Amino acid sequence: MGDEHVKKAAILSIGNELLSGRTVDTNAAYIAGRLRSIGLPVVSVHAVADEEGTIERSLGLAAGEADVVVATGGLGPTDDDLTRQAFARFLDVELVLRPDLLEKIQQFFDRRGVAMPTRNSIQACIPRGAAALENELGTAPGIRAERDGKLLFALPGVPAEMRHMLETQVLPQLQPLVSGQALAVRRLKCFGAGESTIAEMIGDVMRRGRNPLVNCTVHLGVITLEVVATADTQTEAQEMAEREERSLRSALGSLVYGVEDQTLAEVVGDRLRRTGRTLAVAESCTGGLLAKLITDIPGSSEYFTYGWVTYSNEAKTRALGVPVATIATYGAVSEPVARALAQGARRTAGTDYALSITGIAGPGGGTEQKPVGLVYIAVDNHDGTETSRHVFSFDRGSVRLRAAQTALNILRLRLDLTGPVSM
Ligand code: AMP
Ligand code: MG
Repeated sequence: MGDEHVKKAAILSIGNELLSGRTVDTNAAYIAGRLRSIGLPVVSVHAVADEEGTIERSLGLAAGEADVVVATGGLGPTDDDLTRQAFARFLDVELVLRPDLLEKIQQFFDRRGVAMPTRNSIQACIPRGAAALENELGTAPGIRAERDGKLLFALPGVPAEMRHMLETQVLPQLQPLVSGQALAVRRLKCFGAGESTIAEMIGDVMRRGRNPLVNCTVHLGVITLEVVATADTQTEAQEMAEREERSLRSALGSLVYGVEDQTLAEVVGDRLRRTGRTLAVAESCTGGLLAKLITDIPGSSEYFTYGWVTYSNEAKTRALGVPVATIATYGAVSEPVARALAQGARRTAGTDYALSITGIAGPGGGTEQKPVGLVYIAVDNHDGTETSRHVFSFDRGSVRLRAAQTALNILRLRLDLTGPVSM
């Protein structure tokens, strides 16, 4: 299936509050996710002001690049809610007052024992020729209209009302439209290289217009490659996505640590649990963050036994036996101290593996030889100790998180060395 034959959607989020940043556009995220789940990819999200002309122009833009436009917001009764008017202008028809809709709004207020404010009657107006979408949770009916073969929907901005109407009325109407197209999405999670390196390793698969489409995002060192395959049937789309996954995996090797929403802690934990191995950690600059990530995973007590936050030099010596002389000679942030911490943790806890982290999280405390962001990580098991030096950037929070994640990744690679798990 060529990209040009794939039916697509665009989203219009209407409201000044979205432009000032006061309200985060959660509606667009929700709508995009739901449309994709029925096989309708979203090509654009337009956030626009409560201005009739702007909304009308944006409707034109959205309809120009998509087969379906879903708008939210601007259906309230006040003068700043102009979506109805803009729809009418875009469709080149007038707004007509529908007595049946007015009756429903009237009933909404009657049920609450409140007199209907006159201005609410505007909500009973919809563009001539358009259909109304019932709003069971509020007063504003939605709109369904067509122009030049494009389907246009207007839904209220209130998230609960929008969601309910999308689920009960919009998605069922869109199903037939996408019956001949299916989407399969697969996410690969990678850690250990930057975006550019990964892009180089996988060639030109990220070029636009390709099917499967490969998208790349990065968050705190974790790179997510999202494969979106479009085909006539779900089975076909699924097979395409799986084929793409295999080829990405063979190009990226051990950089791929998992799929979908898997975290490094989850993957590492799973491996430890399945092999019956145990883990202890000794942390300095991460202050317990590594232990937190590990114990965020339900069932981690099966493999995680001890965590030390040895923040001061004295703690490193007293709790884990790091020699005073080692700290005096090399400093607390050093490769020998990371090594001694990991060895001390494994010895004291009696575990199969131990991880340690010592570094300078900043913002202060850096020197020329030891800059802010410098972190030493060690992993220890019966095969020996492996240490590595890293310099992470950005703020204290990022340095600490990157350090903890990197430690988990180092353990993951060490666990991989022990060979595939036999069950
Ligand atoms: P409206 O239908 O424009 O009167 O919107 C009603 C309320 O819904 C607004 O005051 C916002 O709090 C919320 N809202 C509107 N649009 C969005 C959106 N795109 N995402 C999240 N909340 C929204
Ligand atoms: Mg509004």
